[in-house]
Amino acid sequence: MVAVGDELLLGDIVNGNAAWLGSELAAVGAPVTHSSMVGDDVEAIVAAIRHALSLAEVVVLTGGLGPTTDDVTRDAVAAAAGVALVRSPALEEQLREKFRAYAVDLPAAVMRQADVPEGATPLDNPVGTAPGLRLELGQQLVLALPGPPHELAAVARGGVLAELRERSGQVVLTRTLHCAGLGESNVAELVEEAIEVPAGVDLAYLAGGGVVRVRLTTAAATQARAAEVLDPLVARLQDALGTSVFGRDGDTLAGVVLRRLTAAGATVAVAESLTGGLLGAALTDLPGSSAAFRGGLLVYATDLKTSLAGVGEDVLAEHGAVSTQTAQALARGCRDRLGATYGIGVTGVAGPDEQEGKPVGTVHVAVAGPEAVVVRSVRLPGDRTRIRLLAVTVALDLLRRELPEPLAFR
Ligand code: ATP
Repeated sequence: MVAVGDELLLGDIVNGNAAWLGSELAAVGAPVTHSSMVGDDVEAIVAAIRHALSLAEVVVLTGGLGPTTDDVTRDAVAAAAGVALVRSPALEEQLREKFRAYAVDLPAAVMRQADVPEGATPLDNPVGTAPGLRLELGQQLVLALPGPPHELAAVARGGVLAELRERSGQVVLTRTLHCAGLGESNVAELVEEAIEVPAGVDLAYLAGGGVVRVRLTTAAATQARAAEVLDPLVARLQDALGTSVFGRDGDTLAGVVLRRLTAAGATVAVAESLTGGLLGAALTDLPGSSAAFRGGLLVYATDLKTSLAGVGEDVLAEHGAVSTQTAQALARGCRDRLGATYGIGVTGVAGPDEQEGKPVGTVHVAVAGPEAVVVRSVRLPGDRTRIRLLAVTVALDLLRRELPEPLAFR
């Protein structure tokens, strides 16, 4: 793949298109084997196309298809193929039509987008004005797609990915298990005890934000054949990783918590000190969260822990604001005062300085439910930002473990 644009080379934007295409192309059995970035310069793009054609069967370009003079990808595709650019009357008419719909005058430069290298087919762009280009060169294929990510996605999904899937003759299937409460090396140890990865299956660990993802990928002629290979492995992994597995594939921890709360007809409220609202934000990030999320108390100052969340002054005096006892009282307090089935209390030291003699990274989380209060105390690594984000994961995971798993999950 070749990403075109001076702004990529100058560091103004990150090559997100390469990341997106990398995963989409792998999923259709056409993995990217070489990726480059090049400026808005015809000769440089031609050289990049030629080099890419020497390495792969299909070359996908992104960017530089717009109407301005620095958009020269179509010129470069024509030059690389040794053909002329010809104006397409059908595309001219389409462009006129699009601009009629926008009710604006047609800038003269726009018509450059109706130029097509001889022998190329335009690819419809339903969300922008610049069409993509598809050009066969013998057995090889050059595809030029628009740079704006939403246009790229629209054109790619409009037939490009389907064509490449057909051409590869393969379906790539991925299964992911998400784990919380275990470190990456613990997860890897359990995985390696549980399964031997067969040839043709790729195993990857992706860790971040206190969550470890175990991903299995394989390619086969059909989706069903790929599933036959992966599903028994996934079942063994799920048994081996036990309760640390909170979800699969597109799941998120907050999403799973909300799903389980909703399935149980239960609600949650939070009392946050350390996380300053991040836990409430995570629980309200998803549509439909109002069915399960009651609200939160942001009790940063010690006196507010008492006046708003009902933490006893004696508890604070005896154990301090950063203590399991305070976390428990915060959980009980928000559960009672906000009328929820579960209350979560979070307190800790985000740093940079220690507090009450407790080191940076000390975090206490409690979940108060209808029957009991559970607590988890951890020492989290990293800077202020990381400690606060990891604390959110610890809190959500503690509640997740209290909630029954809907039967549909397994
Ligand atoms: P336009 O019709 O908007 O001119 P284009 O195909 O000419 O489309 P570019 O002009 O190269 O695309 O890029 C337009 C915008 O798309 C850039 O400013 C940037 O925001 C985004 N973009 C381009 N290339 C990439 C990339 N490789 N990764 C992420 N974003 C990109």
